[in-house]
Amino acid sequence: MAQEDIFKKIIAHSKEYGFIFQSSEIYDGLSAVYDYGQIGVELKNNIKQYWWDAMTKLNENIVGIDAAIFMHPRTWEASGHVGAFNDPLIDNKDSKKRYRADVLIEEHMEKIEAKIQKEVDKASARFGDTFDEKQFRDTNQRVQENQLKLDELKARFVKALEANDLADLKQIIEDSGIVCPVSGSKNWTDVRQFNLMFSTQLGSVSEEASTIYLRPETAQGIFVNYLNVQKTGRMKIPFGIAQIGKAFRNEIVARQFIFRMREFEQMEMQFFVEPGTEMEWYKHWKEKRLKWHKSLGLGEEKYRFHDHDKLAHYANAAADIEFDFPMGFREVEGIHSRTDFDLGNHEKFSGRKIQYHDTVTNKSYVPYVVETSIGLDRMFLSVISNAYTEEEIEGKDETRIVMRIPAFLAPVKLAVFPLLKKDGLPEKAREIMDRLKFDFNCQYEEKDTIGRRYRRQDAIGTPFCITIDHQTQEDNTVTIRFRDTMKQERVPVENLEKIMEDKVSMKNVLREL
Ligand code: ATP
Repeated sequence: MAQEDIFKKIIAHSKEYGFIFQSSEIYDGLSAVYDYGQIGVELKNNIKQYWWDAMTKLNENIVGIDAAIFMHPRTWEASGHVGAFNDPLIDNKDSKKRYRADVLIEEHMEKIEAKIQKEVDKASARFGDTFDEKQFRDTNQRVQENQLKLDELKARFVKALEANDLADLKQIIEDSGIVCPVSGSKNWTDVRQFNLMFSTQLGSVSEEASTIYLRPETAQGIFVNYLNVQKTGRMKIPFGIAQIGKAFRNEIVARQFIFRMREFEQMEMQFFVEPGTEMEWYKHWKEKRLKWHKSLGLGEEKYRFHDHDKLAHYANAAADIEFDFPMGFREVEGIHSRTDFDLGNHEKFSGRKIQYHDTVTNKSYVPYVVETSIGLDRMFLSVISNAYTEEEIEGKDETRIVMRIPAFLAPVKLAVFPLLKKDGLPEKAREIMDRLKFDFNCQYEEKDTIGRRYRRQDAIGTPFCITIDHQTQEDNTVTIRFRDTMKQERVPVENLEKIMEDKVSMKNVLREL
């Protein structure tokens, strides 16, 4: 199945089973804004908890906060967002579609890279074990030509971005022969800058109103609280502050479902270190974060690092962790060495001294920061797109859709079915559920055949279903059915907790980190 079709199916499935709905759908929706439904919110909360616990429970020197979305307007001057949080945009005059100029060029470069990779893969298949990739890349003429083209383009692109040279960005698009994906034409407008922050008015009387912004990142809420947390928590450097919260960006190209939204959620951790040690910590957090992702069991080959060519205005090193989404490898998390840019600027703009005093060396300094910043919604998308599976059922002329969500993140952990709606079976089922519901998110279902009930639970990724039948009343055993294997076993009711705990406990996964 084409990747695009898979993506469409995932979107349709998300709506059908209560994972994600378009915002304000009854009014035809609001572009690039989404709501999480009754099943989606459970998965989202579990992802949040896994991140939060990995940060704050496993690291004694990391604490959490929950800062407000509204912040003093000066915050965004200090952070550089008023002046520099812009995307270069370009319109195609024929299709009237708007694009980010940098994204058009990056996609063009990806295509050249893919061409090179195709040659390498072809040669590798031809030569088998004796294939020397480096030698091939160094000597093959077509690969060499494309590599040169790519290197030159990359260098020019980075230079134009760094110099904010909008005219050259347009020239690159024209020189590379990039066409609009919709109209196929090269009829482009000039490139313009577009600030991504949403603004609103604070104050009830218009004369008193002052413009404030919806935060475009959660990080600044942490920076302005650095002193509060350090002092009241008696934190010693190195230490970190973690936060989960909403962020808002007026994205120009807001497509691809929950991958790029105008209102989204971030899980960020700012780690404060002594100047000069930041590269060590940057490496440390790159490794740690990749390990966290891999611990989900979605497949090690699904992740890769992408080191940034062009650094943001605040960074001296930056890398993305990319996940292999249905539309290809894309950023899910950024790890940035932000230097003392933010704290230093808040010190300047607020006039407050934001420094750390090291009692051992008796030195004071503005701490450096290493940040890990992950998009909760993108994380959610990586989990559901990886989970979505259509499979033939052996021995039956039937297919099922099963969401192979890691069991510890599954929205519902256990479904409880009485075989029939009579003979005391519903009462017995309720009794079992009443015992288990304090530890596991359970669902009770008595409608339809057991087969249909299994399908509905497969579609939301429930790892276990149990059926209560007449035998249960005799010997207190139930049938437990496993989502992935569809195998069924008869087990004593008193063993249920243990069986489930082994598979769905977040503790077990955290222990491996
Ligand atoms: P991109 O290049 O895709 O626009 P970014 O580099 O601007 O992302 P950061 O500012 O580093 O993103 O934000 C950290 C994380 O927040 C990203 O890795 C991503 O997971 C998430 N994120 C950023 N923008 C959005 C968005 N519009 N919708 C959903 N998640 C987002």
